Amino acid sequence: MSEALRRKLTNAGRVLAMQDQGDFVAGHVTVRLEDDKGRFLMKPATIGLEEMTPENIITVDLDGQRVGGSMPRHNEVYIHSEILRARPDLNAVIHTHAPHAVAFSSLGKELVPVNNEAGYFYKKLPVFSETTDLIVTAERGKAVAKCLADRNALLLRNHGIVAAGRTLEEAVWVALKLERACRVQLMAEWAGGPKHIAEGEDLEKKNSRGMRQDLFTNVFNYLVRSWCRVHGKHGDPCCAEHYETDLSGYKG
Ligand SMILES: [Zn+2]
Repeated sequence: MSEALRRKLTNAGRVLAMQDQGDFVAGHVTVRLEDDKGRFLMKPATIGLEEMTPENIITVDLDGQRVGGSMPRHNEVYIHSEILRARPDLNAVIHTHAPHAVAFSSLGKELVPVNNEAGYFYKKLPVFSETTDLIVTAERGKAVAKCLADRNALLLRNHGIVAAGRTLEEAVWVALKLERACRVQLMAEWAGGPKHIAEGEDLEKKNSRGMRQDLFTNVFNYLVRSWCRVHGKHGDPCCAEHYETDLSGYKG
């Protein structure tokens, strides 16, 4: 069971790096163990997101202590441990220094539905501004979890993003869509600021078409296949299992 999850976490790191969420060896992603809800798998410190392997991933408990693996643990582990403690409905957490989201967070502006993905976060994107420093204590981790409340993403002002999901596929989707929404609004801001945004029933309908587990899975699988093509790794066991398409939520 854990082996499949380790391969999926490895792939999450690869696609996050491929999508410009990497910051050299900073940024991390975690997923809760299916058979032990008080522990989670985590990217180790000292390596890049795309350098994770099923073997070098570490296991951590909800107090932030490493309980498995030998590589060092990120000092910002408390973002993950405290969110997973506070939110039993969530199973995956991502923290990166996504560049457009960081730039956008410095404007002190609300993220508005300039493009499709921004609608998912409209009026639902907390900004953590208690500090711009790294989150290296359990106390700060708890404060981030409190700021997140019942949402699935937040901006750490002048620092980065936190994205979470019921599945790893959803958390990756949220992280990538949030960064893209911030990037597109920045483009509109550079051109004088958005004059029109999506709102009301129009926006609600549009959002309902995008927030779907089958879509999260299909996007994740596509990104893994794309990574494998770029890196010539079609035979890699981490890539081979991403050729299925989930049609369960597709309505045409
Ligand atoms: Zn950070």
